[in-house]
Amino acid sequence: MSLIIDCHGHYTTAPEPHNAWREAQVKAFDAKAPPPLYPDIPDDLIRESIEGAQLRLIRERGADMTIFSPRASTMAHHVGDEGVSRAWAERCNDLIKRVVDLYPETFAGVCMLPQSPAADLQGSIAELERCVNELGFIGCNLNPDPGGGHFAHPPLTDRYWYPFYEKMCELDVPAMIHVSGSCNHALHATGAFYIAADTIAFMQLIEGDLFADFPTLKFIIPHGGGAVPYHWGRYRGLADMLKKPGLDKHLMENVFFDTCVYHQPGVNLLAEVIDSKNILFGSEMVGAVRGVDPTTGFYFDDTKRYVDALDIPDADRHAIFEGNARRVFPRLDAILKARGL
Ligand SMILES: [Zn+2]
Repeated sequence: MSLIIDCHGHYTTAPEPHNAWREAQVKAFDAKAPPPLYPDIPDDLIRESIEGAQLRLIRERGADMTIFSPRASTMAHHVGDEGVSRAWAERCNDLIKRVVDLYPETFAGVCMLPQSPAADLQGSIAELERCVNELGFIGCNLNPDPGGGHFAHPPLTDRYWYPFYEKMCELDVPAMIHVSGSCNHALHATGAFYIAADTIAFMQLIEGDLFADFPTLKFIIPHGGGAVPYHWGRYRGLADMLKKPGLDKHLMENVFFDTCVYHQPGVNLLAEVIDSKNILFGSEMVGAVRGVDPTTGFYFDDTKRYVDALDIPDADRHAIFEGNARRVFPRLDAILKARGL
């Protein structure tokens, strides 16, 4: 039996008291007042928020599991300070843990980090350790631009990030490179900022030699790798001009793209250009694009349909749906093996 593992889902339907607490937390910070007490959120409210949304869609669309993390657009690392980010990240990750505990067959947890524009990565390292060692999470979302749309942080290849990568390698967890909300009004969050950040991250990796220093480090670049597959010739050519090895050796032992590309021709191109060993099935639902495509009658983010329709060998489809996710998330593989899967 083979599994269909969605590598990219966020808790976009978190219960209202959780969201209200965040609003109050930010208000308190602005007023220099202590943060409010976190509300008591009953299991029923969590069940309600999941069963009518993600869980229903996972079942309707024929997936088995979703790798599940806090809502990306509301990580908002640019808001408040490191203490605000830490308290928010802990609450969000604890809530993911509750979802995983309620539906362990369906969800595996991935954490957000308490990044903050002026902070180093010590707080993020501590939260990653807590989430992996205590909550059983299998990965993290790493924000390459915690300033929220100004790209003021050093590139992902800079030594600024190295202590965090060391911890990732030690714990054997990958990161999805994922920005959050945009505070730059010139950048629409999900339409411009996300896709630009994915593309920027890949180019940063080309310019550096990160995986020579961290041969086991693994990144997922979401949203189909941004503009990268479409411009693959440009990136191969730039790597050549920069006297880097070919991209297959330079990056593609360590970098993976998901299938959050919301139309068939885009997924066809992804599969034609990028080796199937580097593609992980993902939908990012319920997320950025929630409507029905009038030209097909199906939801834009029902990405399993596009992968099903690819003209590729069964072994490649199996890799995209299951095999690659188990390789990129070794802790997920261990959980599944322990269940006899
Ligand atoms: Zn996402």
